[in-house]
Amino acid sequence: MSRKIDILSLSHDALNEYVSSTHPTFRANQVYRWLWKQGVRSFDEMTNVPESLRDRLKEECAFNSLELAQSQTASDGTIKLLFALRTGQHIETVLIPDLKPDGTASRLTVCVSSQVGCAMDCAFCATGQMGFRQNLTSGEIVDQVLIINKLALERYDSRVTNIVYMGMGEPLLNYDAVLDSIEKLTSPEGMELAARRITVSTVGLAGRIRQLADDETRFNLAVSLHSPFDEKRSSIMPVNRKAKTDLKSLMQAIQYYTSSTKKAITYEYCMFEGFNDSIADARELARLVKRAPSKVNLIMYNPVEGLGFQRSSEKCLNDFISCLVRERVTVTVRRSRGQDIDAACGQLAVKNTTD
Ligand code: SF4
Repeated sequence: MSRKIDILSLSHDALNEYVSSTHPTFRANQVYRWLWKQGVRSFDEMTNVPESLRDRLKEECAFNSLELAQSQTASDGTIKLLFALRTGQHIETVLIPDLKPDGTASRLTVCVSSQVGCAMDCAFCATGQMGFRQNLTSGEIVDQVLIINKLALERYDSRVTNIVYMGMGEPLLNYDAVLDSIEKLTSPEGMELAARRITVSTVGLAGRIRQLADDETRFNLAVSLHSPFDEKRSSIMPVNRKAKTDLKSLMQAIQYYTSSTKKAITYEYCMFEGFNDSIADARELARLVKRAPSKVNLIMYNPVEGLGFQRSSEKCLNDFISCLVRERVTVTVRRSRGQDIDAACGQLAVKNTTD
């Protein structure tokens, strides 16, 4: 790998510091805009940057961009892209279009990856089976959005509207790069997306949730719950076996987060047949989530071969919803998309690489 500085991984502050050792700081802002607003990936295209700075950048910096390796489109219009990293590892990113009857897009959501593989080892998840391989840089995270944005403009004549950090990896275990990527996506000098259109989904790392509150983040936070009972949750999510991240610690952190940020939280709850879809589960879930402003997003599970979980029936789902509604819990249902190309929730696992 190149020994040059990866300019795409530099935060705005780091770029300022680097550029200002030889040029005025406003030149760093110009470079930042070329990188994250215009999306250029060559220094020669930075036409308002003086030649002396461009020469220095060429000499000392490189673009560790993603390389598109494969693209697949599902019958429902969901597009899954496979990207190669400089290290030879691969990640997957998904574009989920919500289309109006006339074929134009009402919403274009990108599901980005934040790590290669994942260390959290959730029993129902294909990515978890890969184990952890490496963190992505902020540049590699934003590049997923920039590349998909170009695709969205070509296919739907519309920009990406929403971003969810629900692809491969646990975003809060790559905290600095994830927050820097969101800065690049939301900054007036970057893509200028509204923070309320970005959702970071976590397995529930209590300490990091408190840190998000202390850092006064403005994006949405979703927490994967999947069971309101410690024993059951621990059996499918190893993170719950530790005292610092069990349900009690998690709920305390969430209460801290919602009261500090004045933002509600979303609980993700994957419905597994015969495991967490009974009325007793629904009642306990309601009791738990009512402790802080929140809504529950029920996810219809996409079975992953060999993992032994099945999706709940429609009747179970409806009874579960009725129980939550009776308990005055706000509830939505997500029917995953792109199942025929393994692009749905929990199915990303880079099948076609040999590494
Ligand atoms: S569900 Fe999320 S946190 Fe759990 S193993 Fe999969 S990618 Fe990691």
